[in-house]
Amino acid sequence: MKRDVKIVKTYTLIIGCGRLGASLANELSELNRDVIVVDRDKNAFRKLSPSYGGLTLIGDATDLNILKQAEIEMASTLIVVTNSDNTNIMVSQISKELYHVDQVITRVYDPERTFVYENQGIETVSPLILLKDRIKMLIHN
Ligand code: AMP
Repeated sequence: MKRDVKIVKTYTLIIGCGRLGASLANELSELNRDVIVVDRDKNAFRKLSPSYGGLTLIGDATDLNILKQAEIEMASTLIVVTNSDNTNIMVSQISKELYHVDQVITRVYDPERTFVYENQGIETVSPLILLKDRIKMLIHN
């Protein structure tokens, strides 16, 4: 008899442990989500709170071996928030195309680049667009 074995992908992989990545890692860990955060600078992990319950991995996320070590194929969600658009886009594309990560959310500083990646199933967040929309909402005269 043939049985369907369904692999349950459960964890959130965060690339970049800067101010945004660390803050997300801390909050998702508080919510009891399984988290792994990758950064090429070991000092970056100092921003994690003492109660952070996830894993950390030192390495360059553009290196496939690092993504494999982070068990990317088991990630349900990938959040890519390094300070480089090129890195974020490259890691996001690799994750979608090679590892079929279900949800990929990436920070892209340059708003003109966001539309291209939305078509590839990569969800982009542009700080500039978010700030502009918020400031427009705050204008009251
Ligand atoms: P921030 O600008 O505060 O959001 O920090 C961005 C973080 O991304 C820093 O901690 C960097 O060390 C990290 N970072 C940049 N490029 C890479 C990369 N290729 N792989 C892993 N981490 C990176």
